[in-house]
Amino acid sequence: MRKIKEDGAVMKELSIYIHIPFCVKKCNYCDFLSAPADENTKKRYVDMLLMEMEEASKEYSGYEVVSVFLGGGTPSVLTAEDTGRILTSLYEEYNIKNGVEITSEVNPKTADNEKLKAYYQAGINRLSIGLQSADAGELKILGRIHDFEDFSATFNAAREAGFSNINVDVMSALPGQRVSSYQDTLKKVLALSPEHISAYSLMIEEGTPFFDWYGDEDALRRDGREMKYARGEKNVHLHLPSEEEERKMYEMTEQLLARRGYHRYEISNYAKPGYECFHNMVYWTRKNYLGLGIGAASFINGERFHNTEDLQTYLCGKFEKEDRMVLVQQDCMEEFMFLGLRLIKGVSEREFQLQFGVPIEAIYGEAITKMEKQGLLKRKEGRICLTHRGIDVSNYVMSEFLL
Ligand code: SF4
Repeated sequence: MRKIKEDGAVMKELSIYIHIPFCVKKCNYCDFLSAPADENTKKRYVDMLLMEMEEASKEYSGYEVVSVFLGGGTPSVLTAEDTGRILTSLYEEYNIKNGVEITSEVNPKTADNEKLKAYYQAGINRLSIGLQSADAGELKILGRIHDFEDFSATFNAAREAGFSNINVDVMSALPGQRVSSYQDTLKKVLALSPEHISAYSLMIEEGTPFFDWYGDEDALRRDGREMKYARGEKNVHLHLPSEEEERKMYEMTEQLLARRGYHRYEISNYAKPGYECFHNMVYWTRKNYLGLGIGAASFINGERFHNTEDLQTYLCGKFEKEDRMVLVQQDCMEEFMFLGLRLIKGVSEREFQLQFGVPIEAIYGEAITKMEKQGLLKRKEGRICLTHRGIDVSNYVMSEFLL
């Protein structure tokens, strides 16, 4: 039931993302807004975050918070006390709906049982643990600080602390990765029976050591992956998996996880029934979310904006929102399709009509028919979704929905 304000108006829903931009060390593939920092900087950052939360809460007093996500970076590099301060402030300043999903990302080797117990007591009820791979060599080349034993220890400590909703992140298409080692990672994760698994393929992003070593992905494709040897440091002269190997890993993920009761509900996300990530669904269905902390992006009532990406500016207490952009109808329709088609259930024709006042057919009839004929889209019970083959070439399908 939707909450009613004192003046009788219905409260709008809002999700909150909180960015913690600190990590123990920078990974070789990472282009996220994150870096190592000393304890004093982390504390000052949390102080500023609390200030921003208080300031923003005045603007969002008419909203009911339906999910919270602490991401990074590595939120678990903060002390339990600082994380507790953030949660306390959330509950004090915002209308948090009872029982909502509150997730924190956690990396192995940064959270022990005590810290996880404190999280649980503070109200965090879902953890997302970054494993990426169970293979020590693959983790080393990624630049991660943990091994599989560290991950298991964190996972078991989380269970002991009371967490019954845990996501594990894994990655495929890693340098030096073989189909058998990826299978081994999946099997080891499945043995622990987490409620949710996110399985992403490595993307080589500009500005990362991987980009310097491997070049950009377009060049890899253009040259038939001939550039698959790393350049530079000797110890990173490893192949990226071939396209055929990548395909095998990709197909294996769905088959293995389906056999163990995980259903794929988004291109890269799998869950046991009832454990789909509510917060991420907010992004894919274009609901309101407020980003707090440096670089955090927001989408509120059709307007996109983000916080400064500069730590020093943020530490000076400057929380001005940057790049404010009110989306026009055309942008909204495109986003509706791009984001909605990432979901395996696809987009609702009725929802499109409700949001835009026109039938989806009138705007995208031609594109839908074309993709249907190519076997990449299908229509079922008022919804349009990618076929199995469509998921494989989702970027191509999405490009058909640009207006
Ligand atoms: S732990 Fe995550 S956010 Fe931090 S550097 Fe590694 S990949 Fe980036």
